[in-house]
Amino acid sequence: MSSSTKKFKTEVQHLLDLMIHSLYSNKDIFLRELIANAADAIDKARFTALTDKKISNEWAIDLTVDKDKNLIRISDNGIGMTEKEVIDNIGTIAKSGTKAFMKALEEKKKSEADVPELIGQFGVGFYSSFMVSEKVEILTKKAGSDESAVRWTSDGKSSYKIETAEKEEQGTEITVFLKDDAKIYMENWKISEIVGKYSDFIEYPITLPYEKVEKEGEGEDAKEIKSIEIKTLNSQKAIWLKKASEITEEEHESFFSHLSHDGGKPAKAIQISAEGTSEFKALIYIPEVAPFNMFMPDFQKKGLQLYVRRVFISDECKDLVPDYLRFLKGVVDSSDLPLNVSRELLQDNAQIRKMQKTITRKTLSELKKMKEKEPEKYAKFFLEFGKILKEGIHMDHENKEKIKGLTMYETMNNEAGKLVGLQEYVDGMAPAQKEIYYITGESRKAVENSSALELFRSQGFDVLFMIDPIDEWIMPSMGQFAKFQFKSATKGDIELDEKSKKSSEKVISKAAKNHKDVLEVIQKELDANIKEVRFTNRLTDSACCLVGEENAMSAHMERMFKSMNQEVPVTKRILELNPKHSLVASMQQLFDADKANSELQKYAHLLYDQALLTEGSPIPDPLAFAKNVADLMVKAVK
Ligand code: ADP
Repeated sequence: MSSSTKKFKTEVQHLLDLMIHSLYSNKDIFLRELIANAADAIDKARFTALTDKKISNEWAIDLTVDKDKNLIRISDNGIGMTEKEVIDNIGTIAKSGTKAFMKALEEKKKSEADVPELIGQFGVGFYSSFMVSEKVEILTKKAGSDESAVRWTSDGKSSYKIETAEKEEQGTEITVFLKDDAKIYMENWKISEIVGKYSDFIEYPITLPYEKVEKEGEGEDAKEIKSIEIKTLNSQKAIWLKKASEITEEEHESFFSHLSHDGGKPAKAIQISAEGTSEFKALIYIPEVAPFNMFMPDFQKKGLQLYVRRVFISDECKDLVPDYLRFLKGVVDSSDLPLNVSRELLQDNAQIRKMQKTITRKTLSELKKMKEKEPEKYAKFFLEFGKILKEGIHMDHENKEKIKGLTMYETMNNEAGKLVGLQEYVDGMAPAQKEIYYITGESRKAVENSSALELFRSQGFDVLFMIDPIDEWIMPSMGQFAKFQFKSATKGDIELDEKSKKSSEKVISKAAKNHKDVLEVIQKELDANIKEVRFTNRLTDSACCLVGEENAMSAHMERMFKSMNQEVPVTKRILELNPKHSLVASMQQLFDADKANSELQKYAHLLYDQALLTEGSPIPDPLAFAKNVADLMVKAVK
């Protein structure tokens, strides 16, 4: 039997030193790492087994504990290692992840406080076992090789011992002699908790013996019979690796509830199998119901679960999906990311960006399909998650058009609660209509009676109700849809067909001429509040309304800013009058009878207040308004 002691390379020593003295709180990951190594080793052996009959194929990862000896052992019947491989793989740092880790450590050297955090982020494989152990032993036999087995032992300080050893079966046994403060890792509940969290979907059974006590006989003669039961701790069901047709509805439901930690159901399952530049499999769900905490910060921190070759890596890899798809639940399992990929690397990683692109493209196309083929289901989805999806119009330039096509709104010509997609709106446009009209406000009730809608009603045009708080923010990014410009019903001029345009222009210019004096009185009286007073073709029933200039802030936006106690620049708007309304004629009569009649000033203020009230804005002086109305009422009865 040969035996020798070798020194660790300096960088390994440095790393081990950090591990041993690590204060990092999540020491659980050592087990995850060792199990992942075992599963990798079985993967390799299984591959070789395809051609080599000698190799075992009852694959398993067996965990055992020995409380007398203070140890936990992880055994696999995988590929194993030759002596040279042990020296090459374990005594050195060849992996890119570890190199990056060491580099980061160098940079952080000055502030030792960050070191434990870094260790957690990197998960440096086998070495992490030294966080919990006084000594680690590897006993390994290479599959299909005539070389004898090898034992590697180290306390992780400066050297390791390597010797030939006895082992019949192929594979590797890692024995971790636990430190006093790490005895918890010999408790079955703890081991099973860690496996459940990190290694549940490992394809091979991960077993652990449990002591079973059974009673035999009755009363005083009863005897306790102890036996050992081997339990499999992991479900092994990596259902995302199955073919879509092989996954049952029940499996989807139970997997979804495992992911979402609530009793809800998925509305749709999206399966992705990406090959080529980035290889990964994904099973992603669109939930049926939005979780209550969707707008809270801790929800926004979590993303899809990232796995690397069936090993759980992180559920905080936000970059797997764009923010506006953050309601998705699911698993992404990469074949080409390294297992010890760091969180920092995950944050700005070309590979992850590629995955994000594929996931986004596929999700948007599934949503489109759902919208076309299952409109009712889609409308439900949109009510739950539309608010979030719309953020994409602002944030994702590349997919903006697709997202616009997925949005839906209530409209003036449809009953409350019925949602209409933009394509449907455009398809239903009157031939004379040249733009897509919308009005923003806080609710249907607040906008549907707006006097600014009268013209559209009279022309048979429909108007989109943008009544989600986010709509106001998104509108500037909307631009066009299907070559039609979006146009606020409460701003600027409305384009009509030539004939109507000509006739309404005539009415307006005639009124402006006939009622020039009245306009002047109003302008003078309301100079502090309005930019201009003019006649409009916008109104059919109401006497007046307030409109903004093309690029001005809408009244709704102004109210939103004010409700957040934000300074709002004062933007004077335009008071538009209905030339056909009898109030205009009455004011003219008053003026003609007595130019200086103080009633005229009251009328001017009442017009302005009316316009504010109908659009849902507060009036500046409610007392004065009430007094003016009361005075006029008394007058009317006299
Ligand atoms: P990583 O697994 O990220 O490569 P580790 O430090 O955990 O890093 O392991 C280093 C190498 O040691 C592995 O790449 C593998 O070649 C070898 N190894 C570790 N554990 C086992 C095992 N259970 N069976 C066979 N080889 C192993």
